[in-house]
Amino acid sequence: MKAITVKEFGGPEVLRLEEVPDLIPGRHQVLVRVEAAGVNPVDTYIYSGNYTPKPILPYTPGRDGAGVVAALGLGVKKVKKDTRVYVESAATGTFARFCLVDASHVHPLPANVTFAQGAALGVPYATAHQALFGKAKAQKGETVLVHGASGGVGIAAVQLALAAKLKVIGTAGSGQGLQLVKEQGAHHVLNHKDPAYLEGLKEITGGKGVDITLEMAAHVNLGRDLPLLAPHGRVVVIGSRGPVEINARDLMGRDASILGMTLFNVTPAEKAKIHEDLIKGLKAKTMKPVIGKELPLDQAAEAHRLIMQSGAFGKVVLVP
Ligand code: NAP
Repeated sequence: MKAITVKEFGGPEVLRLEEVPDLIPGRHQVLVRVEAAGVNPVDTYIYSGNYTPKPILPYTPGRDGAGVVAALGLGVKKVKKDTRVYVESAATGTFARFCLVDASHVHPLPANVTFAQGAALGVPYATAHQALFGKAKAQKGETVLVHGASGGVGIAAVQLALAAKLKVIGTAGSGQGLQLVKEQGAHHVLNHKDPAYLEGLKEITGGKGVDITLEMAAHVNLGRDLPLLAPHGRVVVIGSRGPVEINARDLMGRDASILGMTLFNVTPAEKAKIHEDLIKGLKAKTMKPVIGKELPLDQAAEAHRLIMQSGAFGKVVLVP
């Protein structure tokens, strides 16, 4: 079968399409014919060799995908052959014609959801869910600033927050990104490339400040996120690409908190609940993953260059 194979760590140029041996599902595993694979920033960190744990070379990247169940390993009762599914935490990479997944990481894909949309669920929606509800314990009526709302996690966060009846302020750095966030139903949109974009934020919240900030770029924003918080406000650090300076006094007077998170730390019980909620949201159509670009598998390197540039517009997926 065809698969992207990484033989050395480096930039996107290390992603090469090759012929590799077919896969056979082991005990409790499912073989999925991949129809779309989600491209996430974490893939770039992993194949750069700067992420722990490092994969053993050669390997096929990709954690998220959607497709059809092609074969079942021994002991699999949860899923049936030929059903449409989305997968998260694939055991072998999803940037391939087929992948192997533990049966507990395979979820039914409702009929109203495309394969490309299914490939946008695993990391982005589960992360947004965990940040909003698992970490920030968001409550109906609270205000959330989605700081970086135009990308995979941001769009998911906007949709999940609106469905939970929060007031949503979303930021983006391009005209098309701002338009996309507005179209999702965000109550206010702000351009994080405008030097004065945070000035009106207190006013938007009636002088109270934001209850929750979901931060995609803490290395840029964390220091100025804190004075914008309401009493008992919470910042959840989802993304950060370097060190940042903060004034801890901005936390004290507000009884505010900074919460870090990584999806890799979610427990199996939390994960099961997250995916139960996501499937409900898909069926209820409160969640509609936005696909910005679909590229063929042999353009995996280009797809990764794209997601690391500014001007995000929903999700980039690869189609084998
Ligand atoms: P993405 O699709 O590439 O989107 C990146 C987002 O960050 C876009 O909305 C982008 O806006 C925005 N952004 C860029 N510069 C910004 C700034 N100065 N201030 C605020 N926002 C800014 O990536 P993603 O999949 O949504 O992931 C977002 C981040 O979270 C990445 O760093 C990723 O590694 C991390 N992440 C962490 C976890 C975890 O478990 N902790 C899970 C998933 C993702 P424009 O392009 O419009 O400027």
